[in-house]
Amino acid sequence: METIERSNSINKENLKLLITDPMDNVMLQMLQERGIKVDYKPEIDRNSLLNEIPNYDVVVVRSRTKVDKEIIERGKNLKIIARAGIGLDNIDVDEAEKRGIKIVYAPGASTDSAVELTIGLMILGARPIFQGISMVKSGSFKKLSGVELAGKTIGIVGFGRIGTKVARVCQALDMKVIAYDVVDIKERAHKMGVIPVNTIDELVTESNVISFHVTVGNDAKPIVTEEHFKQMKEGTILVNTSRAIAIDGKALLKYIDERKLTLVTDVFWHEPPKEDWEIQLARHDRVLITPHIGAQTKEAQYRVAVMTTKNLIQAIQEIGVSL
Ligand code: NAD
Repeated sequence: METIERSNSINKENLKLLITDPMDNVMLQMLQERGIKVDYKPEIDRNSLLNEIPNYDVVVVRSRTKVDKEIIERGKNLKIIARAGIGLDNIDVDEAEKRGIKIVYAPGASTDSAVELTIGLMILGARPIFQGISMVKSGSFKKLSGVELAGKTIGIVGFGRIGTKVARVCQALDMKVIAYDVVDIKERAHKMGVIPVNTIDELVTESNVISFHVTVGNDAKPIVTEEHFKQMKEGTILVNTSRAIAIDGKALLKYIDERKLTLVTDVFWHEPPKEDWEIQLARHDRVLITPHIGAQTKEAQYRVAVMTTKNLIQAIQEIGVSL
């Protein structure tokens, strides 16, 4: 396809906007209401995208499309990248910023959905609900026992939007809540009746449940490592709806039986599990995995689409297009 050289005078008639992933209808409606023309290609493959991207001023993606260095380099006319989601894992942010490309997304739009899934997973970790349902469906009917959460200590790792709300729900369950973060959370935590701890070691040794709500890059070092598994209380339940990398998975596999640990997680090191140790962990009786569904509710997807579109419309105006 021939590459169009774009002039500086972009207006809403000649603005070229490409959507490369399936998107909630509300985004298309909001853009069309503003008179913005949209090329909607939700199944475009990478080669076609590489061919077509030079012609666009704006690209809008969800998680399927990787906007990496190669795509950004080819996108000679790109001025805005919009990610309809709460994180930017699939965008090469450094490369985009180097080229002065604006990035918009929807931080916080799925907080409530992620909190609710976290609480669900925590309860699944404490009570054999999944095992009980599977057993009854296969024709057996016997008692299965679990543990109560009231009176137990939950350690929240990452006291941001989701961690803070999970803390509030846990307080309502009469759990004692402690929290660890790399930023200073003391004042905010004290106000809520949450106990801030200074080190991850302290959190790990005191908790019956540890719930992860951190934002860390895919190449980050694990926060909970082999040394921590040795110090954990026997029977600790690990809940993770943030980043698998926060936990040293190989070390967990090593200690899961000795320490009688449980892992309930919405995120995995590879999704789906790929390496031998991941497959072993995934098949373990005390490991329950959901397929990364934290933000997959009707409400969260709608909010993500609306927030991304509002931010996108503002960014389009900021590049000089009057709408
Ligand atoms: P947030 O930015 O509001 O909070 C993250 C907190 O983690 C911050 O306070 C930050 O200081 C802290 N943190 C970062 N690195 C840390 C470390 N090494 N140790 C301790 N604390 C650390 O983010 P949020 O909106 O609460 O989201 C939390 C996580 O949940 C993100 O990773 C997000 O991608 C994930 N998430 C997943 C789903 C899902 O589908 N499972 C849905 C929504 C959000």
